[in-house]
Amino acid sequence: MKSFSIQTFGCRVNQAEAFLWADELQKQGWRFEKDSTRSDLVLMNTCTLTQSADRDARKFIRSVSRSNPNARVIVTGCYAQRSPEDFRELPQVWKVLSNAEKLNLVSQVSSCLSHAGPEPLLPFRSRALVKIQDGCDFRCTFCIIPQVRGQSRSVSQEKILSQIREQIDQGFKEIVLTGIHLCSYGQDFDPPSSLLDLLRKIENLDGSTWVRLSSLDPRSLSLPLLEHMTKSEKICPHFHLSLQTGSDRILGLMGRKIRGRDFERILAYIRNRDPFAALGTDIIVGFPGECEDDFTATYEFLTRSPLTYFHVFTYSPRPLTEAASWSQVDTKVKKERAARLRKLAGIKNLAFRKQCLRREFPGIVIKREKDHTQVLTNNYIKVRVPSSRIQERSEVEVRITKVTPKLTEGKIIRA
Ligand code: SF4
Repeated sequence: MKSFSIQTFGCRVNQAEAFLWADELQKQGWRFEKDSTRSDLVLMNTCTLTQSADRDARKFIRSVSRSNPNARVIVTGCYAQRSPEDFRELPQVWKVLSNAEKLNLVSQVSSCLSHAGPEPLLPFRSRALVKIQDGCDFRCTFCIIPQVRGQSRSVSQEKILSQIREQIDQGFKEIVLTGIHLCSYGQDFDPPSSLLDLLRKIENLDGSTWVRLSSLDPRSLSLPLLEHMTKSEKICPHFHLSLQTGSDRILGLMGRKIRGRDFERILAYIRNRDPFAALGTDIIVGFPGECEDDFTATYEFLTRSPLTYFHVFTYSPRPLTEAASWSQVDTKVKKERAARLRKLAGIKNLAFRKQCLRREFPGIVIKREKDHTQVLTNNYIKVRVPSSRIQERSEVEVRITKVTPKLTEGKIIRA
């Protein structure tokens, strides 16, 4: 029987696509193999948001060539879309698929390679991921996504609801909704619909499941949506809102029509309604033209914000984007600024987790190791609990008992 493995880079949208491939391939008789050094087929869903994402993809393919020279590799995703020639000549690469072609990846595999009957499904992930939207109509000056993923398109409500119904039946207790621009959901329909409308329908499905939203753009966040999310009993209290910088001048250069005070108002709104909600964002450091004052503005913004975590990315020029041709910040300065922000991120996250000490939160068992089990709380804290027989995907209640800079410990109090 043929086996496959999947290596995903970059965003949650890529992860959701991989999730679907894993499901469909297993239904068609392929065996899922976690370890890419042992699989017959390796699927790579690449990212090209940063130079380091490109580097990671090339490094991975080299390692497959060394460790599993007989495997066939299919490369797709945003890097393959932007620069397919980087992969075509590599001896192991069987196919390079564009972002449009990857929608039919499973049928392409099945029609070319033999397989057996349906396989019992092995969990590819402990939480189900569903792509509800793709593409983007914005043009941020640093971002290559609109070029490689095209205009915003929403998946039909019927398709999403039937996918989620199937996942609930398979035993998933958390569904993560992903998209490049979730807040644009439904605007391309005739008549237009909305993310809020979709959420209400998902919440009305039979069967209990948590719904988590991957990333929301504060520029398009409506008050009714925010109000609904903060009240809902089924939507995880986890808000990842993309900001990119705390400097209004740099936000202007990035072409993002939002200012720090608007973002602060949204954060304050959520925090007033839920003191334990996870609040996260992404920050790009070293954008062209970022001077010391801009960096200080970002640093101070983040320090005073109620954010509970943030990811720091060092800016790297991307082909086909406006900002790539602008005067660049010195690499050493970028690295120093990124290190300072990452340290601040650690401090803020620790403070949030300490606030959660001795409190109880619902969560999902996401990993079982030999000596411990990992639970992800609905407010996005990974808690290490003593080993237990509780299966991955199960819903539990955990109490947080210990918090250190690197670790959160707890115990399951209800399974
Ligand atoms: S909103 Fe901006 S950053 Fe986000 S995908 Fe679109 S262009 Fe890129």
